[in-house]
Amino acid sequence: MKFGGTSVADLERIRNVAQRVKREVERGYQVAVIVSAMAGETNKLVSWARELSPLHDAREYDAVVSAGEQVTSGLLSIALQHIGVQARSWLGWQIPIRTSGMHGAAAITDVDTHLLEERLGQGQVAVIAGFQGLGPDNRITTLGRGGSDTSAVAVAAALKAERCDIYTDVDGVYTTDPRIVPRARKLEKISFEEMLEMASLGAKVLQTRSVELAMIHGVPVQVLSSFEDAPGTLVCDEEEIVEKQLVSGIAYSRDEAKVTLIRVPDKPGIAAAIFGPLADAGVNVDMIVQNVSEDGKFTDMTFTVGRAEFERAIHVIEQNIKSIGYQKLVTDKNVSKVSVIGIGMRAHAGVAQSMFRALAEKGINIQVISTSEIKISVLIASEFTDQAVRALHTAYGLDA
Ligand code: ADP
Ligand code: ASP
Ligand code: MG
Repeated sequence: MKFGGTSVADLERIRNVAQRVKREVERGYQVAVIVSAMAGETNKLVSWARELSPLHDAREYDAVVSAGEQVTSGLLSIALQHIGVQARSWLGWQIPIRTSGMHGAAAITDVDTHLLEERLGQGQVAVIAGFQGLGPDNRITTLGRGGSDTSAVAVAAALKAERCDIYTDVDGVYTTDPRIVPRARKLEKISFEEMLEMASLGAKVLQTRSVELAMIHGVPVQVLSSFEDAPGTLVCDEEEIVEKQLVSGIAYSRDEAKVTLIRVPDKPGIAAAIFGPLADAGVNVDMIVQNVSEDGKFTDMTFTVGRAEFERAIHVIEQNIKSIGYQKLVTDKNVSKVSVIGIGMRAHAGVAQSMFRALAEKGINIQVISTSEIKISVLIASEFTDQAVRALHTAYGLDA
């Protein structure tokens, strides 16, 4: 059972979580609980580290931002003990949950279940601090924002759990963010592949890496509400879904920035000269467009990066102006990516056309397009994000 930030936002909610855990124990389950920090806590810790130094030591950043989960794991254990449920808190290093050394965005490499299984076997609930692990340098690491989902799936996989239940502030995965489209519909089931696209294209209901892990290890994941007893959404294999939709969902991300290099020489090696240094600097490039050059000599190159990496990307490009040889750098931080996702797309033509028409009817200009087998993404001006998501939701017949 994993409980997100809003589910443990105050003591009353922690008591509510304790009752839910107790219920599962009484049903005869051995329960491992993964908790997030109380809502807002991680943001506060991140901003403190940034305020002291924008280029802070990533190891100290992890020491700071992992603290929120330590508090909730202790508090929930106290609340459980108080209602007669045996429980203890576990920090990442105590289990240990081993990770790569990439501080701030570490990947889980191993979960030692030895001690956990011993205690679970004695009937003790394990209350595990999410989002954190132990790096090869023997220091605390964190898994990137939203990382408790990944902690939960990794622990479930390691324990060979029957299920991994992700309790949150919505009662499942919807056709799109219900905060933007109130008429969004709850999905009874969604395939791992679609959920992976939804998550990586911006739907933050599950961290992308958690879906990846669930898919690899075949962990059945259920997303459900910590406040209501409604059935949630099951994330499962495609084969288990009988009614395959053409389009299952719409995702959006406001976290985008666009960079255009004007008049770069159109010759072999130019893409490598631009994207090599960016990769070396750890900048993740998403969409890329290279225009056809008119005269065969010069071309324009446009690419997008996450907004958090924008400054670093610009710095890298400017440092490499000589080897790239562009004439002008044009940037835009007011862009969003809106995506349409569905496994049904594999076998059907015309899905992209409906998207372009729906956006055109609203007068929304498309700046960049990228597609894969089961999704189409477009880059648009940020101010039109909500309108675009709503228009597409209606266009594909997803409105409830
Ligand atoms: P938690 O703190 O429990 O981890 P998050 O805030 O990380 O919760 O994720 C839940 C939020 O994800 C919801 O409140 C909702 O606004 C957002 N969300 C975005 N896209 C979707 C979607 N397709 N279905 C459900 N929720 C979504
Ligand atoms: N508390 C962490 C965050 O806010 C991890 C999580 O909630 O999943 O990113
Ligand atoms: Mg989350």
